[in-house]
Amino acid sequence: MMRLLCVLLLAGCMRARPELPILNYHSVGDAADDYTVPLAAFEEQLDWLASHGFHTVSLHELAESRQRRAPLPDKAIILTFDDGKADALAIVLPALRRRGMRATFFVITSLVGRAGYVAWDGVRTLADAGMEIGSHTATHPRLPDLSDARVQYELVESRLTLQAELHRPVEALAYPYNSVRARIEKAASAAGYRVAVAGVEHGSADLLSLRRVPVNGMTRMEQFTAELAVFQR
Ligand SMILES: [Zn+2]
Repeated sequence: MMRLLCVLLLAGCMRARPELPILNYHSVGDAADDYTVPLAAFEEQLDWLASHGFHTVSLHELAESRQRRAPLPDKAIILTFDDGKADALAIVLPALRRRGMRATFFVITSLVGRAGYVAWDGVRTLADAGMEIGSHTATHPRLPDLSDARVQYELVESRLTLQAELHRPVEALAYPYNSVRARIEKAASAAGYRVAVAGVEHGSADLLSLRRVPVNGMTRMEQFTAELAVFQR
């Protein structure tokens, strides 16, 4: 009985995580708060990843590896940035490029070009630099609070806008506030998303609610490396 319980608990833990770490950043800049990682700390994290042999991949590549058995590189990791703030272009992109790294940027389509947010030219620059662009909905609502019709609008409108602006398919979604339920996952799939990311609370190994590890200005280097140690083989 104890052994069965242990096996079930272990299986539960394994289901709860995707096969590779997916990090959830927002901004990088001068501040150190629950939204912003200071640039020096961010660069230390990227250098640690590089020196420990991590390879950045996209959510598209993760979906391909699951659905078409296209193998991922050893020590693969996905870096994601929510909200599409201006520092994505000005600070994050140069830091990634210096190290030959890639990331996924989730854009709130109604805020593109507003003060503090990246403009469409900037989103295209990110995409042209090999970064993956995903939707973070049209207006960033908490989706489980909305009617089915409103959820559909948020998911479909943002995806079609991104595809029209970028002239390339958009497969990835980040749920605002990492808030998701089974109904929202079904809506995401129906809206054409292949892969979607959530946070620690609602995240799992499921392609439509992938668990992400938050990284913010309070994250100490020991915490950062401890989170990744779980995935090291
Ligand atoms: Zn957000």
